[in-house]
Amino acid sequence: MQAPVIAIIGGGFCGMLTAVHLCREADSTLHLILINKGSPFARGLAYSPHSHQYLLNVRARSMSAFADEPVHFVEWLQQHPLYKHISPAALSTSFIPGTIYGEYLESIWQQTMATKPSFVTISMIEETAVDIQEATPHYNIHLQNNRHVTADYIILATGNSQPRPLPFTATHSSLPWSTYTLSLDNTTTPVLIAGNGLTMADTVTGLREQGFTGVIHTISPNGYALKPHSQPDLSYFLSAESIATCSTLRQWKKEVYKQITQARAASLPDELVIDALRPYTTNAWQQFSYADKQDFLRHSAHFWSILRHRLPHSIHAALEREFQAGMFAPHKGVIQQTEKDSNGGIHVNWYNCISRNHRQLHVQKIINCTGPGTDITQSSNPLLKNLSSTGLLKADELKLGLWVNAADYSVIDANGNNHRRIVTLGTNLKGLLWESTAVPELRVQCKQVAVRLLQQVNHKEKACI
Ligand SMILES: Cc1cc2nc3c(=O)[nH]c(=O)nc-3n(C[C@H](O)[C@H](O)[C@H](O)COP(=O)(O)OP(=O)(O)OC[C@H]3O[C@@H](n4cnc5c(N)ncnc54)[C@H](O)[C@@H]3O)c2cc1C
Repeated sequence: MQAPVIAIIGGGFCGMLTAVHLCREADSTLHLILINKGSPFARGLAYSPHSHQYLLNVRARSMSAFADEPVHFVEWLQQHPLYKHISPAALSTSFIPGTIYGEYLESIWQQTMATKPSFVTISMIEETAVDIQEATPHYNIHLQNNRHVTADYIILATGNSQPRPLPFTATHSSLPWSTYTLSLDNTTTPVLIAGNGLTMADTVTGLREQGFTGVIHTISPNGYALKPHSQPDLSYFLSAESIATCSTLRQWKKEVYKQITQARAASLPDELVIDALRPYTTNAWQQFSYADKQDFLRHSAHFWSILRHRLPHSIHAALEREFQAGMFAPHKGVIQQTEKDSNGGIHVNWYNCISRNHRQLHVQKIINCTGPGTDITQSSNPLLKNLSSTGLLKADELKLGLWVNAADYSVIDANGNNHRRIVTLGTNLKGLLWESTAVPELRVQCKQVAVRLLQQVNHKEKACI
């Protein structure tokens, strides 16, 4: 009998780590097909920058790839030539460059390849998957080069899609991660970054590293409010009982404000409360009604995001210095119109939400850092877009990710049929879980998906004997 075939589409953190768990947990023949294109295998988009200047935005102590081995990353760092002279305690609280984290992920993969059982075989395909068709009892995965591969089970680990194009600037805006190699017309004429979040901060770092000395304007409707991480030794103790019983957004907000007030009374920063809430956030989100979720996205998500997604101190301080020197000009506003001039520059008309009047800027480039696009019907990823038009995938009700079965993350198609043999994880689960972006939650999903899928495979194999 042929070995069951699991294809993983996407080879970033999630795709690679799920493959690692499949290799660790499998106890009989299995063939894995790993399909990845766009970013380097294992590193993915996040951990393949070209420079050590880009720091992780989570401390090393929370970045182990394995939830049940929390010091795995710090112990790996202790063996690294650049870090072995630093104490484990200091390493744990450091913000390590993303490129070093990429080395860590690659080393996990190399180790897996060296130690995996021989009954697990792997083929790697560097190509974009563009379509999936059911060919009962298998699935055919079509690749961009017109070839196809056949699998019994599919894991969609497609990661972040590109930001939605800016409405007025489709023809002359650049994507954030291209700033690793962004070609500017000159090093002095200002640029405008649309977005004021962590991607903006990375983009400023990238531009300065490339020798750009001009003013960097940034714009978003809520303005710039990024915070640095609080001191590593501070924490807030949350009494779980009251928070666990909140089933509406109203109750949840009331409870969060109560906790923030208590934290402030103890001179602790608000963000520690949001950190302490993290184990309860998904549960609360799942209890909220559709109207509550919409309300949260409209009115509270921005404040939540500021407290939740913070910068390493050194990056925050560098932005502060730039701001004081007039080189970083964040605006609270909305781009209204843009027009290219004959010299290739761009005139930007924008509305200032603070002074409530219309303003103008002249820049050489607009960089779109508005965050990953989540609506699969508009996705930059050809696979998600095609599958949404054929109906094999459907967006969740808030268009934050995919419509899935909450029990096992298997996808539900446009007709409501549950495809138990196609599962997903990572940002595709944002609609279901809300918290589905960072390593601390993704590493748990990778293991869960691998273990559950193997149970399904084994069950089917036994039924066939
Ligand atoms: C710049 C950046 C920095 C970050 N920093 C941190 C951090 O410090 N700490 C933290 O916890 N989290 C961080 N994150 C969050 C990050 O999303 C996760 O940590 C993790 O890297 C996501 O991995 P992933 O595998 O889901 O997606 P990705 O890394 O995006 O990998 C998906 C891969 O699949 C490929 N792919 C997609 N579709 C197809 C297809 N159709 N065919 C073939 N290949 C395909 C993509 O090209 C890519 O190679 C960061 C994110 C970014 C973008």
